[in-house]
Amino acid sequence: MQTELKVYNTKNRAIERFEPINPPFVGLYVCGPTVYSEVHIGNVRTFTSFDLIYRYLLHLGYKVRYVRNITDVGHLLDDTSEDKISKKARLENIEPMEVVQRYTVDFHQTMEKFNALPPSIEPTATGHLIEQIELIQTIVDKGLAYESNGSVYFDVLKYSESHNYGELSGRNVDELLSNTRELDGQSDKKHPADFALWKKAEPQHIMKWNSPWSVGFPGWHLECSVMSTKYLGKQFDIHGGGMDLKFPHHECEIAQNKAGYDEEPVKYWLHTNMLTFNGKKMAKSEGTGVTPREMLTGDHPLLTQSYSAMTIRFFMLQAHYRSTLDFSNEALQAAEKGLKRLMVALDTMSDLPTSDSSSVDVDDLIARLYGAMNDDFNSPIAIAHLFEAVKWTNLIVDKKETITEADKIRFIETIHKFVIDVLGLKNEATSDGTETIDGLVQFALELRQQAKLDKNYAMSDSIRDRLKAIGFEIKDGKDGTTYTPI
Ligand code: AMP
Ligand code: ZN
Repeated sequence: MQTELKVYNTKNRAIERFEPINPPFVGLYVCGPTVYSEVHIGNVRTFTSFDLIYRYLLHLGYKVRYVRNITDVGHLLDDTSEDKISKKARLENIEPMEVVQRYTVDFHQTMEKFNALPPSIEPTATGHLIEQIELIQTIVDKGLAYESNGSVYFDVLKYSESHNYGELSGRNVDELLSNTRELDGQSDKKHPADFALWKKAEPQHIMKWNSPWSVGFPGWHLECSVMSTKYLGKQFDIHGGGMDLKFPHHECEIAQNKAGYDEEPVKYWLHTNMLTFNGKKMAKSEGTGVTPREMLTGDHPLLTQSYSAMTIRFFMLQAHYRSTLDFSNEALQAAEKGLKRLMVALDTMSDLPTSDSSSVDVDDLIARLYGAMNDDFNSPIAIAHLFEAVKWTNLIVDKKETITEADKIRFIETIHKFVIDVLGLKNEATSDGTETIDGLVQFALELRQQAKLDKNYAMSDSIRDRLKAIGFEIKDGKDGTTYTPI
C-alpha cells in the first residue's frame, strides 16, 4: 500500500516516508501506564496522541495491531527505590493486585471518556514473567548480563564494545561510562551505567517471584522488550511513548532486544511531548498533576471551571504531538468555544443549499486535510483547515458561496471522517445517549399521535404498550402527552 504519510523518526532525528515492514499490516507498541494511581492529564495527552496516530493509520486502510501494556510491577525509577505499586499497597494495607485492578479499571474508564479506541492487545508485565526470565537467561548466556548477589544486571560496558548504547537518546556512551560517581558499597553493579534485569527482593518486598537467580522481580525496561516481541515480532513498525521515556527506558529496551534477539527491533520511534503547566512538566510528584476527574469536575485549585472530555481532547489535538502543550484555563475555554463551533457546523452541513456550480474548492480542501495529517500527523494544521470548512458552511448558508450537490456529498463525508473517525471527536450532548433516547421516544409519540388522528387505535395502543414494555410510561393530559421512565 502506498501513502504519502511521513513520520518523524526520533531515532534518526528525521522526517521519513512511512513504509511498514509488511504492508498492509502495521505493528504499533505504546508504553502504557503504571497502575499505582490515577493517570494525570499529561499521561492522557500521550495516550490521546497515539490514539490519533492509531486512528489515522486505520483511516488510511492499514491493518494495525496496537499493543499497549499495563505496567503492574517493577517500575523502579532507580535501582534502589521501592516498586510504586508495592508501596501503595503497603501504605493502604491492601493487596498489590487490588491496587492494579482499581487503577486499571479507572484508566480504561478515563480513556473511554476521552473517546480513545482500546488497543488490540493490552498485556500486563505480571502476565509475562516466564518470558521475561527467558530473555534474561538468553542475555546472560550471551555474556551481556551478569548475576550479582541474586540480582542480574545488563553489562553496558560489554554491550558497548559491539553496539551503540545511546543510539536513540543521543547520550554519549563514553560520558555515561566514565561517570566517576562512586558506587556505594551496597551496590551489586559492576558499573553505574548498568541497569537491572532482575532484582532480588528484600524480605519486606511484597511483589516477588521465583527465578533461577533469586526470589525477586523484573526490571522495568524488560517487560516492553518481551511483550512487543511476543505480540509484534522481533522487528516491528512503530514504538511510541512520551519523550521522558527515551532514556533510559527505550534506550535500554533497544539494548535488551539487540542483546537477546540480535535484531534491530523498531523501524520508527515516535515520541510525544509533555503537557506542561506554567512551562513545567506536569508531574504528580511536584503537585502539578491534574487528574482527568479533577478536570471533569473542575475540582482543582488551578481550574476556574470544569471542562468536558471532548473539550480537553480538542485542546490537546490543537497542538502537534511533538510540541509541548501548556495548560491554561484561557486556552481550554477557547477550545470549548472552537469545538462547539465545529460541531454546530457539522450539523448544519447536511442542510446546505446546493447550486449548479461550486465557488469553494472542495478537492483542494480535501488535499490539504490529507496533506496536514500525512505530515507527521499534524492535527493543528488539519484543524485549521476544518475551520475553513466551518467558514464555508456559514457562507454557503448565507448564499455568499456556492456548492454543487456532488461537492456537498464529498465535503460532508470528508469533514465527518476527519472530525469523527480521525480526530475522534463526538457531540457530547448526545454522547451519554440521553438526548438520543429522548428524541426516539418523542418520535414514537408523534407516530402514535398520527395513528390516533387516522383513527388507527390498534396502532396507537400498540405504540403505547411497546413503549411501556421498553420502560416508558405514557400519560395523555390536557397539555399533551408526556412520558416518564418506569
Ligand atoms: P507512566 O505511567 O509514568 O509510565 O506514564 C505513562 C505515559 O505518560 C508515558 O508514555 C509517559 O511518557 C507519559 N507522560 C508522563 N508525564 C507526561 C506529561 N506531563 N505530558 C505528557 N505525557 C506524559
Ligand atoms: Zn515501555
